[in-house]
Amino acid sequence: MEDCCTVKPAAPTSPILCPECGKPGRPVERITVKAMLRPGALMRLSAPEHRFCPTPACSVVYFGIEEVFHREEIVVPVFQKEPAGERTVCYCFAVTEADLRRELEQTGHSTATAEISEHVRADRCACELKNPQGSCCLGNVATAVREALYSSDCAARRAQASTGPGYMPRPSTTTTDTARARPDIAPTGPQASSPTGSRMYIDTTTPR
Ligand SMILES: [Zn+2]
Repeated sequence: MEDCCTVKPAAPTSPILCPECGKPGRPVERITVKAMLRPGALMRLSAPEHRFCPTPACSVVYFGIEEVFHREEIVVPVFQKEPAGERTVCYCFAVTEADLRRELEQTGHSTATAEISEHVRADRCACELKNPQGSCCLGNVATAVREALYSSDCAARRAQASTGPGYMPRPSTTTTDTARARPDIAPTGPQASSPTGSRMYIDTTTPR
């Protein structure tokens, strides 16, 4: 006979919230999880469904019923969970944040979104197999371009501020080190180690 206080367990449902950060995850296809897990992790894959946790500070990448996979169990660095600056943004066509920055510095604009969109239209992308989030990277690319624009903007403003009136570039330490390491090219005689002698070397590094 059943105890009236016993709640009959319902079939477990897949969690929506990440068990570590408590934020909602995005559903991912099983093929994505299988493609992304390192062999040891893949061997314990058992939950029927998984979600991707996009929280940067959370180490969980996929979670399902009684199952989590962390970033070190994934075959590639996960865009959302790596520090900004050198990340791969588009996994199919290997576009990195460094590529985006370089193009912005050289041309002032980014063609990455248009180029990737063209590949997507031509059915060349394989996001479900290559991107840990299991979906198209274009949203991440747009964010990374905005961030690169913002940081290059800040760098330009900093450079402008530091080259204002009264600014003198610091002498290169490499030159003085070379002078110190090469006594044969240093001036000989009693002046060699005097302050006058070393200033002469520093003076040669100031731009004309
Ligand atoms: Zn999480």
